[in-house]
Amino acid sequence: MDIKFSKEEQEFHDEIDEFLQRELPEGWADKPVTWPHDYASSGYQEQGDSDLAEAFLEKVIEKGWVKAFWDIGAERQAYSNMQQAIFDERMSYYRAPTMNSVTTGIVAPMLLRVGTKEQKEKWLPIIASGEATFWLGYSEPNAGSDLGSVRTSAVEDGDDYILNGQKCWSSGAHLTDYSWMIVRTDQEARKHQGLSFFIVDNKTPGIKMDPVINILGDHSFNNVFLDDVRISKDNLIGGKNRGFYNLMTALDYERICLVGIGGFKRMFEEIRDYVKATSHDGRPLSEKPSIRNKMARIATRIEVNYMLFWRTAEMLDRGEDPNVESSILKLTATELARDMAEIAMEILGPYGQITGNSERAPIRGLVSRGFLESISATIGAGTSEVMRNIIAQRGLGLPR
Ligand SMILES: Cc1cc2nc3c(=O)[nH]c(=O)nc-3n(C[C@H](O)[C@H](O)[C@H](O)COP(=O)(O)OP(=O)(O)OC[C@H]3O[C@@H](n4cnc5c(N)ncnc54)[C@H](O)[C@@H]3O)c2cc1C
Repeated sequence: MDIKFSKEEQEFHDEIDEFLQRELPEGWADKPVTWPHDYASSGYQEQGDSDLAEAFLEKVIEKGWVKAFWDIGAERQAYSNMQQAIFDERMSYYRAPTMNSVTTGIVAPMLLRVGTKEQKEKWLPIIASGEATFWLGYSEPNAGSDLGSVRTSAVEDGDDYILNGQKCWSSGAHLTDYSWMIVRTDQEARKHQGLSFFIVDNKTPGIKMDPVINILGDHSFNNVFLDDVRISKDNLIGGKNRGFYNLMTALDYERICLVGIGGFKRMFEEIRDYVKATSHDGRPLSEKPSIRNKMARIATRIEVNYMLFWRTAEMLDRGEDPNVESSILKLTATELARDMAEIAMEILGPYGQITGNSERAPIRGLVSRGFLESISATIGAGTSEVMRNIIAQRGLGLPR
C-alpha cells in the first residue's frame, strides 16, 4: 500500500488548498460553531455569515467540486473516491461551508448506483445545483439498530404507492426538501426482504412534522408522521423489495461522508495553541507532563483515523465494498470526537464549562459544546455497539 498521494492527487489537493485560502473570508475557520464529527451544528455566531457561506458555496459549485457532479451520460463519478476524500479533508480542515452531506454524500451516489437512467437525469442535476436537499427517513419508534423492523408501509394503488407510518430522529427534515426513505412494500415477506426506498417530497399532503429538541437546546430532530401519503411509482429507487440490500450500501456511504476528518486536525491545533499560550501556577500548560501526555494521545488517534480514512477511499476506488472498514472508521472517529472533548475539558478545567456566549470562554466555547454534543455521533448512523458487532461478525467471522 502506497500511503503517498499520486502526482495528480497532490496537485488536486494543492489546488483546493489554494482555492480555500483565496476564497474563504479571512479568519473564516473561527466562525462556524462546530465540533469534529458534529451532528447538529448551530451554524454561525454572527449575522451575515450565512450569506458569506452561500456565496462561497456558489463558487464551489461553479468549480464542479460538489460530490454530486457526476458524469451522468457515462454513469460514473466525475471524480475518484480518493479525490473526493481529499476534497472533504481540505474542506473540513478549513471548516468551509458545505452542501447538505446527506444529499451529496449518500443520496447522490446511491442514485448513481441503483437509480434508473430517468431517475439519474431527473435528480442528479438538481442535487448538484443545490435545489434538492434530503433527510434520512430510516428510524422509527420500533426500528433503530434493527432497521429490518421498519413498519411504515407503502401499498400499491394504480400508478402510486400510499404511505402510512412514522419516522423519528429525522435530522434536518424541517430544513430540507425531500426524504430518502425506507418503507415496507411487502407485509408478508421476511422482515429484511420486504423493504424499498422512496424519494418523498416533504410537501406531499399527509406529511406532518413535529420538532424534537436536542441536548444543546436546538431543533435538530423531528418526528415525522405519514398519513395516506400518495407517492408516484417513479419515486421508488433501487427496485421493489431491494431496500435492505441498498440500505447496507447507503449506510457505508453515510459512515464515510459524515467524518469530516480535517475538522479533527483543526480542533486539535486550537487546543494545542491554547496549551502553549496558557499558564497555570506560573507554568505554561505545555510544560506539564500530564497535559503533554493527553495531547500526544489525541494526536496519535487523529493520525490513525487519517490512515483509516484514506484506506476506505482507496478501497472504494478499487471497486471493493468497505463495509467493515467504514464501520471501523465510524467507530474510531466518533469515539475520538467524544474522547477529545473529554480530554479538552480536563485541560481547560473550570473554564471548559463556560459557554460560547461568554467572552471568557476559551476556544469560543466550543469545548463545552463538544462535550455535550459529541455523544450524538456515537449513536447516529449506527451505534458504537452495532459497529463492533459488524466488525466482529463480518470482519472477524465470529458468529452472530
Ligand atoms: C444525533 C442523531 C441523529 C440521528 N439522525 C437520524 C436521521 O436523520 N434519520 C434516521 O432515520 N435516524 C436518525 N438517528 C437515529 C439513529 O440512527 C438511531 O438512534 C440509532 O440507529 C439507534 O437506534 P435506536 O435509537 O432505536 O436504539 P436501539 O436500537 O433501541 O438501541 C438501544 C441500545 O441498545 C444497543 N443495541 C441495539 N442492538 C444491539 C445489538 N444487536 N448488539 C449490541 N447492542 C445493541 C444500542 O447500541 C443502544 O445502546 C439519529 C440519532 C442521533 C443520536
